[in-house]
Amino acid sequence: MQFSELPLDHRLLKALEIQNFVEPTEIQKSTIPAALSGKDVLAASKTGSGKTLAYLVPAVQRLYRHKALSKQDPRILVVTPTRELAMQVYQESKKLLAGAMHKPTLLIGGENFNNQVKALKKNPDVIIGTPGRIADHIEDRSLFLAGLELLIFDEADRILDLGFSTQLQIINDSANHRKRQTMLFSATFDSGDIRDVSDTLLIAPHKVLVDDFRQVHQDIEQAFIFADHLDHKEALLSKLLLEVEDREQIIVFVATRDDSERLRDVLNSDGKAAAALHGELLQQQRNQIMSDFRNNKAQILVTTDVASRGLDIPQVKLVINFDMPIKATEYVHRVGRTGRAGNQGIAFSLVGKKDWKNFVVLKELIQSEIQVKEIEGMVAQFKGFKEHLKKRKPKSQPKTKGTVARQKAKPKNKFDATAGTEVGHLPLKRKQN
Ligand code: ADP
Ligand code: MG
Repeated sequence: MQFSELPLDHRLLKALEIQNFVEPTEIQKSTIPAALSGKDVLAASKTGSGKTLAYLVPAVQRLYRHKALSKQDPRILVVTPTRELAMQVYQESKKLLAGAMHKPTLLIGGENFNNQVKALKKNPDVIIGTPGRIADHIEDRSLFLAGLELLIFDEADRILDLGFSTQLQIINDSANHRKRQTMLFSATFDSGDIRDVSDTLLIAPHKVLVDDFRQVHQDIEQAFIFADHLDHKEALLSKLLLEVEDREQIIVFVATRDDSERLRDVLNSDGKAAAALHGELLQQQRNQIMSDFRNNKAQILVTTDVASRGLDIPQVKLVINFDMPIKATEYVHRVGRTGRAGNQGIAFSLVGKKDWKNFVVLKELIQSEIQVKEIEGMVAQFKGFKEHLKKRKPKSQPKTKGTVARQKAKPKNKFDATAGTEVGHLPLKRKQN
């Protein structure tokens, strides 16, 4: 099937053609017709399989083919968990809307609020942004969503997880009318998430599951390497970096912001062009780093989970988990920064003593064969802790007062990232009529 076989506006087809998108990917084939029919959509497919166009194509089609519900309010809102991803989606949407009268507007934290208010006064049809800043504009009454037609959450599970419950509530409430269509996308919905989310944000959704993230991504060669200590990890890293050519790029994931800067310095003093990206930097610095990386001025990006989701940089050949992620689903997203759009990629993960618990949890999640690699002359003494290999006891009910109180506690403030898991239990119900 080709895009031209779908009932799409000729301007949209032209825009796709200019970018050489002829054949839709599997997720696009299944999602676009469902979205065009106006149904709510819940869609999952592997990293790098083209989810962005799966929602941008029906979104742009709506602008071209349907009359707006309201003259002033935005018609399409795309919410992403990170600023970098919002910027990337914004750039993609600009390409699809090139030459059109509809101009997208970007609303992310770390950028001037008043400039965004000015942009909103021009009544943009399409808004792309992060939950905090979008909610701030709603509360400031510079953004109204009564006329919103299509609400899209990219990396929806992460947004629900990040402690954005208050912001989600604000967005949902301000666009809570029966004509709204809602779409959720990710590579990793686990069954609990899907149930909670369907109950709250979606009405009778069309569910599309192209790939199960528990199965191996065919385009990413993945292996785990044991390490004894920090120096050993650094030596292994130097060795693994030799696997790629100069024009190919590498993302190295670490546990903390400080680690990202420290490791960047180590790599730089080793003559490597490395940059460190994390959430503590000024937005201007974050932009500069991303632009240096996208242009291959920095060959290596050392980063935290701020870069695990959605970023699409075709030259990334190698992903290295210098530290294992705490949350197992983030592993799937981190390694998914390579092996995109049918390209082949490699992902190595270093497993030291501190990583062991996270490694065991990951093994339980992905349920597929795990490949352990040994590098000659650099084989670790550490091979894992035996006691953790035993089957874990089923979780018992929380008994202490403190635990129960913590579970019930409302998020302390809107940036409280620890409160995220409560989202599914908040009354985010959509009106049914
Ligand atoms: P996902 O969101 O599923 O991780 P993206 O939407 O970021 O994936 O797309 C991954 C890459 O695939 C991007 O570089 C995008 O331009 C490319 N791509 C998307 N759709 C197609 C298509 N139909 N044909 C070829 N390449 C595509
Ligand atoms: Mg994506």
